[in-house]
Amino acid sequence: MSGHMVYFANSSSQCGGVDVRDAYTDSQLTEMGITITGESADQKIQTLVAARLFGAKLLGATWATSLGGAVIDAYKKAVGSTDLIVLNDDIPTSGNCATIGGTVTCHHAPGIANTIHEMFHVFDNHYRDLSTTDDGKCGGGAGCWASNYLPQEYINDVSGYQCAKVRCIAHPPSYGGYDSSEAFANLGQNWVLDATNVDVGNSGFKGDFGDTLRNWMNTNMPTFLKNMGY
Ligand SMILES: [Zn+2]
Repeated sequence: MSGHMVYFANSSSQCGGVDVRDAYTDSQLTEMGITITGESADQKIQTLVAARLFGAKLLGATWATSLGGAVIDAYKKAVGSTDLIVLNDDIPTSGNCATIGGTVTCHHAPGIANTIHEMFHVFDNHYRDLSTTDDGKCGGGAGCWASNYLPQEYINDVSGYQCAKVRCIAHPPSYGGYDSSEAFANLGQNWVLDATNVDVGNSGFKGDFGDTLRNWMNTNMPTFLKNMGY
């Protein structure tokens, strides 16, 4: 499934006055545990594409059999439920989205890359809720974020991404609040979009350090899912 994009027809199919495309999008989102407030029908499709890419990336790895065989199951098990609220004027335009627990609030509708970045914050929080070990990463007992595992030297080095700007990493180090959880969400968004055709010039990895980042995710995501009980 890796690298396989799931797109939806851009024209609406009307049957008996019901927009079949919108109904399909809504039912898929519901099945994935995603509720959305404030997005248009087209924006919802972008969110669904983001979630499906995330699930497909997980299933593309041979170790993912414990997640079940469906994109929906893989996404739901890893990320849990997600509540996306758009058009929240409390969030500055520059930051666009903020995630607390499973709730993502955004100033305006996020694009696919930004959406996956926020989904990685939700994954990080879901990981902390479910993991039963800290592997010595956060001072004893459970309660670690997956992002606690990120090597310190990766956090401020963005040279493995296509660019150091928000187009390539939704939360660049130049923004306030940059920390290991932001670095991990940046890494996750590029890991999911790596080898897809989503904004090719601004997603995925480059160079030797990019290879290192990709390999780190390929190696550590199975550990994270195992620690979550999958
Ligand atoms: Zn972020």
